[in-house]
Amino acid sequence: MEEKIALFTIFGGTGDLARRKLYPSLYRLYKKGFLNKKFAVIGTARREWSDEYYREIVLDTIADLTESKEDALEFASHFYYQAHNVTDAEHYSTLKQLSKKLNDTYQLEDNHIYYLAMSPQFFGTITEHLKDQELISDTGFNRLIIEKPFGHDYESAATLNEQIRASFKEEQIYRIDHYLGKEMIQNISAVRFANTIFESMWNNRYIDNIQITLSESLGVEERGGYYDTSGALRDMVQNHILQVVSLLAMEPPIELKDEAIREEKIKALRSLRIYSKEEVQKYFVRGQYGASTVDGVTSLDYREEKNVAPDSTTETFVAGKVLIDNFRWAGVPFYIRTGKNLRQKGTQINIQFKSMPLNLFSDDHTEALEPNVLTIYIQPTEGFSLQLNSKKIGPGLETELLNLKHKNSAETSSNSPEAYEKLILDCLNGDATNFTHWDEVAQSWKFVDVIRDTWDQETPEFPNYPSKSMGPVCSDELLEKDGFKWFWNPKSN
Ligand code: NAD
Repeated sequence: MEEKIALFTIFGGTGDLARRKLYPSLYRLYKKGFLNKKFAVIGTARREWSDEYYREIVLDTIADLTESKEDALEFASHFYYQAHNVTDAEHYSTLKQLSKKLNDTYQLEDNHIYYLAMSPQFFGTITEHLKDQELISDTGFNRLIIEKPFGHDYESAATLNEQIRASFKEEQIYRIDHYLGKEMIQNISAVRFANTIFESMWNNRYIDNIQITLSESLGVEERGGYYDTSGALRDMVQNHILQVVSLLAMEPPIELKDEAIREEKIKALRSLRIYSKEEVQKYFVRGQYGASTVDGVTSLDYREEKNVAPDSTTETFVAGKVLIDNFRWAGVPFYIRTGKNLRQKGTQINIQFKSMPLNLFSDDHTEALEPNVLTIYIQPTEGFSLQLNSKKIGPGLETELLNLKHKNSAETSSNSPEAYEKLILDCLNGDATNFTHWDEVAQSWKFVDVIRDTWDQETPEFPNYPSKSMGPVCSDELLEKDGFKWFWNPKSN
């Protein structure tokens, strides 16, 4: 195990993301030996905390993961707290002094990872000050990890990008999309490029349609304030879903390394058909959940949730047909769907192959056979399944469906590294494969912006789906019009 050497500076060190994801991930990397003696963490936020108090908080966040108290204390001793208002230029010189001191104490070779775990409105200010106050070193590496959302449309994203690029080069910027850290998302490349039977059929000659579902079973919970200004299109489609589309649609890269993969993903995103208003109305539908009582559990109407406007027109559900205008995919719809308060939590991809030209197993050969479907389960279950037709045992020539399934065991899944752990390690290794490049962000916004603009000109009739259903009727109709149906249709209990 090669020890990684770096000073992490976490802006927003007292926040939810830092506590729930970053400290536990750093601890896992420490347990595995990737972090050992030569690392230190500076947590910053406005509050006045002592190092001791900060370390207690850090210890609290890893309590479930620790086996030895000594070990945990040793880990926490690498953490330092610095009260810091990101808008105050002077505070950066204090930060610089502490960075220098820790760099010497822990022999960190001037390697810096700046993690912006706070509201995006501050990203530009922070990066500007980091440069002006000379916190960016000349000798070691300087890497910047930033959280989503990256802008709220193309224009704001481009402005933000310009601000950040004034201080950091594109190759120093690691834009997090935690979906890209998930084991099974990374497995898409293995399914395609390690299996002749799939890659040889991965095109419009053999694939009828592809379906991507990111289904959440909870409502907005405590995030109503943020969500009401964002909605499902910006929160899920612009980033996670289009990233999955690009991984499924891209051409084989010349090698499985960051630049080669990015190049192909960007090409795939450039091939997305940017819709006209009329096409948006035809190919995209939205929904908002209403109250319901299922199995004795009552869910609120979205508009009654905390910090949500009582007349909100924010969508909590999106379904759409994405078209990729290139040689491989012309004519193959990629149906996407995501929503809150749906019947079952889960992310899965269903690849539906074309039907047989004739059904030799039916008397008049016309009744269609069920299609072959390859399913990639992303979460919470991880695995694959392949739907096949086989002959029913017994007399006659009746067919029946058979499902070949591989699901990672609960033990394998729980041992597989958390997305944030993987992504932080990638960043320590200087590997940007699983982060989003500016060109990808830009292209995704361009696709999403026309949908948003079209929708903003009309007032939708919301709510239009009951909580704990699989979304509004218009989502089913979208596929029915093309002669398809959602393959994943979990039933209520
Ligand atoms: P949070 O509100 O819990 O934390 C924000 C942090 O910023 C706090 O430490 C706060 O003290 C600090 N802060 C605010 N104003 C400051 C200022 N002027 N100077 C210095 N510090 C200041 O937010 P969060 O949930 O941790 O989210 C952080 C970022 O991560 C956001 O961009 C969010 O969209 C993104 N994100 C969070 C999650 C999550 O699970 N929490 C998931 C995905 C993305």
